[in-house]
Amino acid sequence: MGHIELKGVTKRFGEAEVIPPLDLTIGKGEFVVFVGPSGCGKSTLLRLIAGLEDTSGGRIEIDGKDATGLPPAKRGLAMVFQSYALYPHMSVRRNIGFPLKMAGLDKAAIDAKVEAAAKVLNLGAYLDRRPGQLSGGQRQRVAIGRAIVRSPSAFLFDEPLSNLDAALRVNMRLEISELHQTLKTTMIYVTHDQVEAMTMADKIVVLQAGRIEQVGSPLDLYRAPANRFVAGFIGSPR
Ligand code: ADP
Ligand code: MG
Repeated sequence: MGHIELKGVTKRFGEAEVIPPLDLTIGKGEFVVFVGPSGCGKSTLLRLIAGLEDTSGGRIEIDGKDATGLPPAKRGLAMVFQSYALYPHMSVRRNIGFPLKMAGLDKAAIDAKVEAAAKVLNLGAYLDRRPGQLSGGQRQRVAIGRAIVRSPSAFLFDEPLSNLDAALRVNMRLEISELHQTLKTTMIYVTHDQVEAMTMADKIVVLQAGRIEQVGSPLDLYRAPANRFVAGFIGSPR
């Protein structure tokens, strides 16, 4: 049994079938990257898993239980948004603790969780600053901290690095990989960047027009791309 399973999941927007019936198993603790060109359905697929979009058909299971109709808050997953989704008027501490405050936790419990998350993310010295007083990388870490405090069973990232400059992207890539090593939590990471996919993934899911072209490790895809599209996209010599 996988941690997250999609069984014949489809999505239509009006007449357009953006995701034809799709099956996918995501194992517990795996770092899975959805990669493919712009418009291929990566975000839609992630949002279906998160519960931010309703499926048009099929079934989503989390830990073997039907989660298809569950609201996002009941799925135990956390979406990491891009850093510009932070509240500019709130301190780092309040930004990270915000989901816990919404969930009704008391101050002592919130402080303890925020401080634990800040430690993992090396943000301990910045808790009283506001987002505007942080670097781009620190802001992105705050956005991740907001997900960590909820102790999700999986983190869902939608192109989290796309608004950072190239050098910072490389850094954050490493930091997110290290975070995965530390937390050992399932991570689903959406990107259109082949290099991110090849360097971060345990398992890559290559998408084109809502269809899975291939699923495999970076090495599998490089050595034995299933078709020209995958070969071209991954930059394999086939
Ligand atoms: P990606 O994240 O890979 O760039 P998306 O999942 O955002 O792709 O989009 C996949 C397709 O679904 C695109 O053709 C897009 O225009 C369409 N789409 C996405 N969201 C909506 C929506 N809310 N309404 C109508 N069409 C949508
Ligand atoms: Mg997208």
